[in-house]
Amino acid sequence: MTNRAAVIGAGPSGFYTAGMLLKEGFAVDLYDVLPTPFGLVRAGVAPDHPKIKAVTRVFDKTARDENFRFFGGVELGQHVTREQLLDRYHAVVYAMGTSDDNRLGIPGEDLAGSHPATEFVSWYNGHPHHADRDYDLSVKNAVVIGNGNVAIDVARMLVLHPDEVRATDTADHAMEALAASQIEEVTLLGRRGPAQAAFTNPELRELGELTRADVIVPAGEALPDELSAAWLESDAADITSRRNVEILQSYAEREASGHSHRVVLRFLRSPIALLGDGRVEAVRVSVNRIEDNGRGGFSAVPTGVEEEIPAGLVIRSIGYRGVPVAGIPFDERRGLIRNEAGRVTDEQGEPQRGEYVVGWIKRGPSGVIGTNKKDAADTVAQLLADRDAGALGAPAIDEPVAGDWLGADVERVVDWGGWQNIDAHEVGLGEPHGRPRVKLVDVDHMHDAAGGSKD
Ligand code: NAP
Repeated sequence: MTNRAAVIGAGPSGFYTAGMLLKEGFAVDLYDVLPTPFGLVRAGVAPDHPKIKAVTRVFDKTARDENFRFFGGVELGQHVTREQLLDRYHAVVYAMGTSDDNRLGIPGEDLAGSHPATEFVSWYNGHPHHADRDYDLSVKNAVVIGNGNVAIDVARMLVLHPDEVRATDTADHAMEALAASQIEEVTLLGRRGPAQAAFTNPELRELGELTRADVIVPAGEALPDELSAAWLESDAADITSRRNVEILQSYAEREASGHSHRVVLRFLRSPIALLGDGRVEAVRVSVNRIEDNGRGGFSAVPTGVEEEIPAGLVIRSIGYRGVPVAGIPFDERRGLIRNEAGRVTDEQGEPQRGEYVVGWIKRGPSGVIGTNKKDAADTVAQLLADRDAGALGAPAIDEPVAGDWLGADVERVVDWGGWQNIDAHEVGLGEPHGRPRVKLVDVDHMHDAAGGSKD
């Protein structure tokens, strides 16, 4: 009989895994908490980066396989348990990503006006769980904490011209709020130096091409410290860091062109408190220097000097972390499902029969979409080795899983046809406005658009 796999999470890592398992003769059921697929491709990738979203064509092809089914609107731990899945599938692959945010752990972190990037990004991308959030954009200064590509995305979204936003699939509520925004200056705050920034080169270059914002790097902060400069000259340095430093230095040498908006990159500054009376008004930072951490890397060490940077809005973009789901072994420290090269393991390191993990909830929130292809291949290789060794065993209920097996436990499941109806509806709404789509942001509206596939 055909082996059956359940993949939990229809983002890139889940879809790559599904595609690989289908090729290996598995029947694959792909579950997602939302009625819509594609995870961060839909709810994370910046709306002004439509080319990156073209990867969904690959996933559409996977979904056309006759042994593929989509169960949208099904939440693991809420509508279905781990045990129910293990009772029915030879293999269960967790691909839920990392939806929570890392915490700074500093005073004032939760003042009004301070928000995690996870939520802000989900808001402007129309994720239904974050659609009704409210951001006060009536302030002049925003600070984005962190030096990764998410921080760049957020900074860019805050200074794009409203006409540029209107040409995208930014959620309507965010489009309106951003058009009315009073923010003029966005400061990106790195705790280490320019040589340690986690930006990738094209994203950093894009900041220098904004239509209504100057990019500003204080001259003294674009230059790497002595230790980093020596590292950049050495074979240990990577090309991305070298280029980042060159780009930042070119920004430092630029004359401001008098645009109405500014993106300011600051380095060697760690937030130590958010200040304000009832709501955030400034970020207190410690000025740092770079030290060799003795493990081949560099740490930020406070010099004792402190500064204040005005901020009516703070977006904390310091990395994502996973959310534990009842019963699945979880490493609290790392915010990931416990695993050994993709095999889920218990606290003693023992592999759990039939359970695997892929993507950010396996390795942490790093890499671009394509990184998940190799990551999925690595886990699928372990799974296939277990299959070939007879280690998958037979599920307790060893028969094909009926499409309606969840019964009344889940009010409405959206299948792939239902998603295609939603997709066509959104694209149709966008067409008259020259937009790729107008996203539905309410689950009930999604179900209405899904139409005939309510049960
Ligand atoms: P990231 O690249 O890991 O960057 C996190 C940033 O937060 C780092 O600069 C880190 O600094 C900083 N940070 C961590 N803890 C901090 C603290 N306590 N105080 C101050 N700063 C702190 O994460 P990300 O930006 O969330 O991106 C996640 C992944 O998605 C990355 O691989 C990214 O490239 C990818 N992504 C790609 C694109 C794209 O290709 N266009 C767009 C978005 C995201 P340290 O280095 O000092 O720890």
